[in-house]
Amino acid sequence: MAETADFVVVGGGIVGCSVVHQLAMLLPPSTRIALLDRGPIAGATSGSCMGHLMVTPDDAQEYAFTRASVRMWEELNERRGGFDHNRTGALYLADSDADMELLPELQRQFAAVGDAADVLDPRHLRELEPGLAADVPGALFYAHDAVVLPMLAAGVMLREAKERNPNVVVRPECAVTGFVRDGDRVAAVETAAGRIVTPAVVIAGGVWTPELARMLGQDGIPIWPRAGNLAITGHHASPIRTQLLEVSYLRFAHGKATVDPTRTDDPGGHAVNMQPQTNGGCLIGSTRQFRGMDRTLNRELLHRSLLRAQRYAPALAAAPIVRTWVGLRPYAIDKHPLIGPWPHVRGLWLAAGHEGLGITLAPITGRLLAQQIAGMPCDVDHRPYLPARFAS
Ligand SMILES: Cc1cc2nc3c(=O)[nH]c(=O)nc-3n(C[C@H](O)[C@H](O)[C@H](O)COP(=O)(O)OP(=O)(O)OC[C@H]3O[C@@H](n4cnc5c(N)ncnc54)[C@H](O)[C@@H]3O)c2cc1C
Repeated sequence: MAETADFVVVGGGIVGCSVVHQLAMLLPPSTRIALLDRGPIAGATSGSCMGHLMVTPDDAQEYAFTRASVRMWEELNERRGGFDHNRTGALYLADSDADMELLPELQRQFAAVGDAADVLDPRHLRELEPGLAADVPGALFYAHDAVVLPMLAAGVMLREAKERNPNVVVRPECAVTGFVRDGDRVAAVETAAGRIVTPAVVIAGGVWTPELARMLGQDGIPIWPRAGNLAITGHHASPIRTQLLEVSYLRFAHGKATVDPTRTDDPGGHAVNMQPQTNGGCLIGSTRQFRGMDRTLNRELLHRSLLRAQRYAPALAAAPIVRTWVGLRPYAIDKHPLIGPWPHVRGLWLAAGHEGLGITLAPITGRLLAQQIAGMPCDVDHRPYLPARFAS
């Protein structure tokens, strides 16, 4: 007889793990929840990224969304720990007159949403971060950002989910090969290991979400892979202790960018991002380029990131780079994730498309999805993220 479940979550990245976590927290412990991934848990983008928990003050909605999630990370750390949560704060670094003009602008954005960030002159900057070059002209410091190790965090979420609900089942190495529909609703999930009969499926497939939705006859989920090259130094080689990023990053990442994800000749962009690890290593990124699912290292772009990193933290020039790799951000066309029901198939829910903020936003994403499923009020206005905006 086929296995049954109340919910099948497809995709064991940080988003799928958070969905399972929040379903287990909000629904009765008798609810049968299966998490399936074709590879290891957090083995795709969530294991090939950086772990900056970033509060973005672009507008009141985005601020509420990111700040709520960063708070949830803090709470998970206080409750459980075990995922290298480090409240480093973030320094937005300037390197030109144009950059210097961005600092008070960003400070005003934080003030407009009722928060605060400090513009630092070179002396105060180096007091806070002695590893910086003497000629960095200024920076903005925001205290509530943090750094986590996403792979460990995924495990912590799943352990808490299983403690709360003994009917949570986690299946790595279990590929979803298709779905069964009964008219306009989901009826079952086909996997490499057999069929699971279920009335509800959550697709949390990152860049593979469009491919998974197509298995249900649903075309046009507008998510594209956006590649990023990363490098990490050896342990105990990091000269920095704060999450550092170039303030120019704001010009092309997240909400600000005007980009065409369908182009195949994207030259790519970069603004360096440096992240201290608790083992004393330094994680350096992060480029952005559309080129399909290609995960070959773009040495030229990465080299530029490394040179920029050394410009800000000169001691990095002597730090051994021990690993380089590429991750694929799931970029949604309107730069907002898709969180909620897909209106054309009853029982189908989506949680995907977080681009470069999926680690930051995983907890609130799981919470908003679980609250919608449970028919509860949402912690943050969920309407901007409803997938229905793309359902024609
Ligand atoms: C270079 C880089 C730097 C980044 N830095 C940051 C950062 O500092 N802060 C931040 O907040 N975010 C950052 N991000 C973004 C973040 O990593 C992503 O938004 C997030 O990991 C997406 O998680 P996900 O769970 O949606 O996708 P994934 O982690 O990719 O999970 C999707 C899962 O679906 C599974 N799957 C696919 N097809 C099937 C199938 N047929 N059957 C079963 N399973 C399937 C895959 O195996 C995969 O495990 C960065 C990303 C990159 C690439």
